[in-house]
Amino acid sequence: MPRLIFLGPPGAGKGTQAERLADQFQIAKISTGDLLRAEVKAETQLGLEAKSYMDAGDLVPDNVLVGIVRSKLESIDPGWILDGFPRTLPQAEALETLLTDLCQDYECVINLDVPDDVIVERLKERGRTDDREDLIRHRLEVYRQQTQPLIEYYEQRQRLSRVNGDRDISVVHEELKSLVSIAGSNGHVSV
Ligand code: AMP
Repeated sequence: MPRLIFLGPPGAGKGTQAERLADQFQIAKISTGDLLRAEVKAETQLGLEAKSYMDAGDLVPDNVLVGIVRSKLESIDPGWILDGFPRTLPQAEALETLLTDLCQDYECVINLDVPDDVIVERLKERGRTDDREDLIRHRLEVYRQQTQPLIEYYEQRQRLSRVNGDRDISVVHEELKSLVSIAGSNGHVSV
């Protein structure tokens, strides 16, 4: 059962590619952004807490995210794709603990590389409420400061694969598909 983590800046295509791979391999896609937006829409306590951070283009506190991901991973089948989590070093460390508790491991971490100017254009077209140009630039800054260090974190663990995300969706998908198949056959998945 493939278990993957998607890194990459906002607008790199993580959601789109994660969805395609989840369909392909019949596994769950866990998008923390989608989960948070559902909480905001349902006006739950958690949603109310998260909303101000999301509206400002900032990250929601780590403890909130770790709780969401823990309850999700505990309740689904063992194959999954994480889209948008972890986004900070404390989240990455919490994920290691969580997976040890669940006797699971991940086989690869994929970083989708896309240049900033392409991202800004893509996100302006997407038109979500947090896709205003000033907020996009702020989210990119937050990404550089808080999430980019994860690239080195996973590189040191020899799990990182870099993929050029500035190409046609189906070309990127084909590359990801073969990458996942190769990672699986290398036996990185322990359970
Ligand atoms: P996304 O749809 O992945 O771009 O996420 C939208 C917003 O949800 C982000 O700008 C953050 O405010 C919040 N969010 C999603 N995932 C996380 C995470 N792992 N840690 C902190 N905040 C997150």
